Amino acid sequence: MDNSAFPVFKTKIAGLNQKFDLNDPAGRKQYFEAKAGPEVKKLKAYLDKNSFVAFLLGKKNSGKGTYSKMFMEIVGQEKVGHLSVGDLVRDVHQALETSEQSKQELIEFLKNNYRGYHSVEETIDLIMGRNQSSLISSELILALIKYEISKRPRQALFIDGFPRALDQVGYSLFLKQLIGYENHPDFLVFINVPNAIIDERIKYRVVCPICQSPRNVKLMVTSEVGYDEATKAFYLMCDNPTCNKARMMPKEGDELGIEPIRVRLETDDKIFQQLLKLHGVPKIFLRNSIPKAVAAESVDDYELTPEYGYELDLATKKVKVIEKPWTIMDDEGVESYSQLPPPVVLSMIKQMVKILEL
Ligand SMILES: [Zn+2]
Repeated sequence: MDNSAFPVFKTKIAGLNQKFDLNDPAGRKQYFEAKAGPEVKKLKAYLDKNSFVAFLLGKKNSGKGTYSKMFMEIVGQEKVGHLSVGDLVRDVHQALETSEQSKQELIEFLKNNYRGYHSVEETIDLIMGRNQSSLISSELILALIKYEISKRPRQALFIDGFPRALDQVGYSLFLKQLIGYENHPDFLVFINVPNAIIDERIKYRVVCPICQSPRNVKLMVTSEVGYDEATKAFYLMCDNPTCNKARMMPKEGDELGIEPIRVRLETDDKIFQQLLKLHGVPKIFLRNSIPKAVAAESVDDYELTPEYGYELDLATKKVKVIEKPWTIMDDEGVESYSQLPPPVVLSMIKQMVKILEL
């Protein structure tokens, strides 16, 4: 992807030499206080009385959920909601299968709110028969978004996964009117992540077999790492106290990395490029990667994603974790580092305050 629309956002502040532990909620709180204290305060005051609709735009696995959850952690969970359209279709599908009451409620809602080419009965069959949101009509997706929002308190919204096809772009321009947010601002949040980053996030992903917590052998370690004599491989142990140091396992197919979702990523990119051309809607530009050449002047070292390697101490049989900066090639072949989520969210907060004119 072309990076020209995505200037490097400087998060380094001259004179601020304190290091923050960005993996710890308390450390993150101090970090945002130190680097964006006034902006966070303004946003919190704004969200007491107002809301917004933000469209999160980026490829699959670009960190949309992570960034919106971190934003919520900073300004207050109750003031902001994250609506994943993919999850929504799955949840509705599941509710229809398991609860007659949910089914009746949805039928009632659709009778009053859905306009499209299928009868309500056909529509229900469509949801029951398929769980891929891309196969469901845009009119139905809109009705489901409206349904979900009708059940929630008024909150600022991060919409994740819409528009998901080019024919939905037109709807997104008027979504706030359709969902009763006409008096609140809306804007687009573009997240630019090189494919190499997505590839390694998938390739080295592991999950706990008990609590399903995700980690990454290369990029996100747990506090204890084990070594398997038989396979000569290192493995992560779940940090969750109730999981008893369960061995985290890769999911089948993840070793292929980005390959199985390449077509999906290309579609995501087309929509992304199309939306970049839009006029009249405010835009926020987030980039995950920082060219190595400008990293030192733009960001602090602790804001970059480290890569982890392991060594076995033969005498003690203990595993030593070795940390170094993670280097990848961005989509234009520029040697780059990857930023941890907090500095990316920091740049989102600062751009948002400007857009909202706070
Ligand atoms: Zn676990």
